[in-house]
Amino acid sequence: MVDPSKVIATVTTSRAGQRQHMVDEQLVARGIGDPRVLAAMAEVPRHLFVESALADRAYEDRALPIGGQQTISQPYMVALMSQALELSGSERVLEVGTGSGYQAAVLARLAARIFTIERVKPLADRARDTLDRLKVYNVVIRHFDGTFGWSEEAPFDAILVAAGAPAVPEPLIGQLKEGGRLIVPVGDRTSQRLQKMVKRGGTVCVTALTECAFVPLIGSHGWRPARASPASPAAIRDGMP
Ligand code: SAM
Repeated sequence: MVDPSKVIATVTTSRAGQRQHMVDEQLVARGIGDPRVLAAMAEVPRHLFVESALADRAYEDRALPIGGQQTISQPYMVALMSQALELSGSERVLEVGTGSGYQAAVLARLAARIFTIERVKPLADRARDTLDRLKVYNVVIRHFDGTFGWSEEAPFDAILVAAGAPAVPEPLIGQLKEGGRLIVPVGDRTSQRLQKMVKRGGTVCVTALTECAFVPLIGSHGWRPARASPASPAAIRDGMP
């Protein structure tokens, strides 16, 4: 008879193996070099942030649907944005677009406190459950329009926007500390350029990191909600085009 404890150990080892393979083949091979980011990506169990039916696909080189026409971003995109924030461990970070909570769980290993905002309530609730289950306690989730930022907790050392914006939401620049980093995809509804902004002496220096395709940032300082469409192309979003 099969010993159940051995089966669990085998599955765990295989997920850890899949994660390490993801790190080597999708991240290191594409130039992600920050050892703290690579360690976080090798540790956070991405398969627990997707529906169980998709767990076996969690370490593939792509975004996956999480419901509500939204997506968990491609692992490379999560790592690239995390690395670009230049976190050393003591920072307060704002994320706009909690989604599954996966990016927040990665950031939670890289910074002191993560404040993350999600406009879709069932996603915010599910992300909270997942993070609680994993005992990730330095992430605070708010159900709100994140294009306003989180003024009560500002200023932030770093801000990550995980949805595509028509332009950089003005409130977010105001909530960034001097020397702070803001990563945001800016473009049209289907394709964007990932921008890194650094605030220095009251002005903002902008660098383009890569082309990308995120789901839209919906809100007062983002896009208007689209009319309902029967099928969603969301599963191919949140990665490189
Ligand atoms: N970071 C997420 C993860 O790790 O699963 C992926 C985020 S998903 C690509 C983009 C998310 O942004 C969606 O969950 C969407 O509902 C959310 N979103 C869009 N506009 C928003 C807004 N104004 N405020 C907060 N969340 C928003």
